[in-house]
Amino acid sequence: MIRSQTVLGQMIARMADEDHYRRWSAQVERAGHCVRPVRLSGSAMTVNTATGEIEATYSSEQEPGGVLLVACKDRRESVCPPCAARYRADAWHVFAGGVTPDDGDEAGHPLVLATFTAPSFGHVHACRDGGVCRTARGGKRGNRTCEHGKPLWCHARHTPGDGMVGAPLCEDCADLAGLVLWNAHVGELWRRTVIYIYRALAALAPNVGGRPVTVRSVREMLRLSYAKVAEFQKRGVVHLHVLARLDGVNADDPDQVIAPPAWAGVDLLTAALTHAARRVSVPLPVVDARTAAMARWGAQLDVRAVQAREVDRARVAGYLAKYATKTVSDSVSGLTASRPRADEPDVDGGGRLPAHVAALTATIRRLARLGTCRALRLARHVHTLGFRGHVTSKSRRYSTTFAALREARRAWRLARRTRERDPWAHPDPDGADHAVTVLVGDWRIAGVGYRTLGDRVLAEVLGREHREAREALRLGLAE
Ligand SMILES: [Zn+2]
Ligand SMILES: [Zn+2]
Ligand SMILES: [Zn+2]
Repeated sequence: MIRSQTVLGQMIARMADEDHYRRWSAQVERAGHCVRPVRLSGSAMTVNTATGEIEATYSSEQEPGGVLLVACKDRRESVCPPCAARYRADAWHVFAGGVTPDDGDEAGHPLVLATFTAPSFGHVHACRDGGVCRTARGGKRGNRTCEHGKPLWCHARHTPGDGMVGAPLCEDCADLAGLVLWNAHVGELWRRTVIYIYRALAALAPNVGGRPVTVRSVREMLRLSYAKVAEFQKRGVVHLHVLARLDGVNADDPDQVIAPPAWAGVDLLTAALTHAARRVSVPLPVVDARTAAMARWGAQLDVRAVQAREVDRARVAGYLAKYATKTVSDSVSGLTASRPRADEPDVDGGGRLPAHVAALTATIRRLARLGTCRALRLARHVHTLGFRGHVTSKSRRYSTTFAALREARRAWRLARRTRERDPWAHPDPDGADHAVTVLVGDWRIAGVGYRTLGDRVLAEVLGREHREAREALRLGLAE
């Protein structure tokens, strides 16, 4: 009770001075209603490089509390929902930009959504929509046990939130080292898969101009463009969701995105992905006698053609964007969303991890000490269970980049400020005024997150109001 009064007191104090509150809430809005903004203190000035004249100065001292709030820009939903929402919107544009290729010829570009899975590293407890986890398959001899005496069945009906889901039926039977090494090599496995896809496209293509398409000539005719997202499964292994598109190649202008020749359709793309996924492999470091020597894709490969209809293409972009803001902590209970800072307990410290996740982190630490695994630097990737890549990535010509989107947003904000005669607006470099101004700043981080819980609650309220207003606008309920 005392605690809530204190929070209320903080909120009232924040709102007491109308002018202060207006400035503070404008900052919160500019930070995108981030839940843990970076608080900066310092100053900056714009200097005209032609004249050396200082055109404007700004100090955080002008702001309430003497600090400037800046969005944390974290992509992870579990860390900052508003920043993750913004990232998701950007990701949607990146993915959707690719499903509508630059030439605008959606129907001419075959597009598929493929999910590349990992192989099995031992039986795990599973959630089966209310069904039994794993039925006994013992035949006449009844329920069988493994060589360690553990049952190979489980009659529980696990719910999705059940911490058991993803845990091995027997930890000694499970190939945890294989799982960790697989995560560590999935990036390389994908790189090789792309090479194999080109080979498969050549092998499976019909004769063109009376001649077979060779591995050498296929890249002169076709280009595989893709965006992919890595998603952690409950058992701690990553899946890749890949949006793959087939483009043609304009030899005179390689950057141009054009439709592929008519013979390269969605059936050829699907067949090439399947063909490549079955054949590609990556050699793994030797760690013990039982762990596989090669990383391969699992038997489950799901490839779906995406129709040229706008609604279908928008839906797959949304589907991938949603995965882009998920983290290992959303799938694997107990893990934190990021590498722990030096002053935080380690991921497996404190004994709060479920047993099977603790067994995985212990395996990573064991492998990290082996000479054969040194190059993998596994000790740095305990929090991602060995996975070392980027969650979201794309081929160069797939679509617009995140950097381009950020640049566009900044340009838009500057343009708006110019209209509002903001002294902070940079002159348009392409405009009539060619004077060049530079921004010189000296900033220190005063802290991360709102200074009080009351501020945080207020920011959340402002964020909700902002979203509701936008939603009303979208639905045509407001002016
Ligand atoms: Zn944030
Ligand atoms: Zn079970
Ligand atoms: Zn066993």
